Amino acid sequence: MNIQNLKLALQNEPKFRYKQAWQAVFKDLIGNWNENTTLPKNLREKLNQTVPLEIKAEVFGSKHSKAIKALLELEDGNKIETVLLQHNDDRNTVCVSSQVGCALGCKFCATGKMGFKRNLTASEIISQVLFFTRYLKQNHPNSRISNIVFMGMGEPFLNYDNVMEAVKIINDPECFNIGARHISISTSGIVEGINKFAKESLQLNLAISLHAPNDQLRAQLMPIDRKYPLEEVMEAVEKYVENKSRQVMFEYLMIENINDGEKEARELAELMRHPLYVVNLIRYNPTGVFKPSPASRMIKFKNTLLRAGVKTTQRQGFGTDINAACGQLAGKKKQNNE
Ligand code: SAH
Ligand code: SF4
Repeated sequence: MNIQNLKLALQNEPKFRYKQAWQAVFKDLIGNWNENTTLPKNLREKLNQTVPLEIKAEVFGSKHSKAIKALLELEDGNKIETVLLQHNDDRNTVCVSSQVGCALGCKFCATGKMGFKRNLTASEIISQVLFFTRYLKQNHPNSRISNIVFMGMGEPFLNYDNVMEAVKIINDPECFNIGARHISISTSGIVEGINKFAKESLQLNLAISLHAPNDQLRAQLMPIDRKYPLEEVMEAVEKYVENKSRQVMFEYLMIENINDGEKEARELAELMRHPLYVVNLIRYNPTGVFKPSPASRMIKFKNTLLRAGVKTTQRQGFGTDINAACGQLAGKKKQNNE
């Protein structure tokens, strides 16, 4: 749903029409303006023409886990992916994309391989949430989306303004009404973005994709480390924590014999010497270059961190069978079409 077009279409209408339309889309979850009965018929027709509500998507379900992935087609034909993760405790997390592709080319990431196409608009980010809100209403009417993570395709802090505009709408009680504390943004470490984020008034969560505890290794995996070395990233995070007193999650992919040794675990523990820092160890979803760490190495790594007093969690291996990690489905699709 294009919010800009909605505003344009209603600019000469009485003010309450906008509120009615908004309610119809985000609360009644209509999929076509004709489903609404409060708006005049001629206006509904106009809206169907200029602000279509259909969201074109291909849905991929995972038989063995509770991850559903949708490949959404944008107006210009580009495709982005969105994932719904249904947790056992009734939480439903939607993982949204912020860009078509990504310019940062991390070696382990399928989105990185696609290269960068363009930023998503706030409306396109919102549409991903709207898609799964409708999906849940249809398939699990008693469930609602409880959490949003910006961990899909793209680097959110390189599309800062649109991401924050979308976040405000996601948080808005008149819209999705998802609490700021349930919205997380993951960055590869864009320092200017972290600094701006520290000044936001909403109590959002910050996650940093770390993946390596020193610049030498990190730059090999994540070229962006050359522009924003670890020291600068950690300094920005420290300032953020001083400002916000909020926990920060550091994501760490476990890649066999690359970043999962004792040496790296100890170095990482050194970096994590702050009570509000939490490490989240993530199973690497193979993208052709590396191998995931076997469970034994993962346990050893985790134990070293725990012994050093670092809060450490492990992300559930959601939907490996549908390639539920960052950018992998859209990447695959593209290859198949080539
Ligand atoms: N660009 C941002 C947000 C999108 S990536 C960032 O990098 O933080 C979101 C998460 O997916 C990151 O932590 C990223 O490392 C992870 N990811 C990327 N490729 C993956 C893979 N092959 N397996 C598992 N997780 C992956
Ligand atoms: Fe971009 Fe994040 Fe993938 Fe790196 S991990 S290429 S920053 S989407």
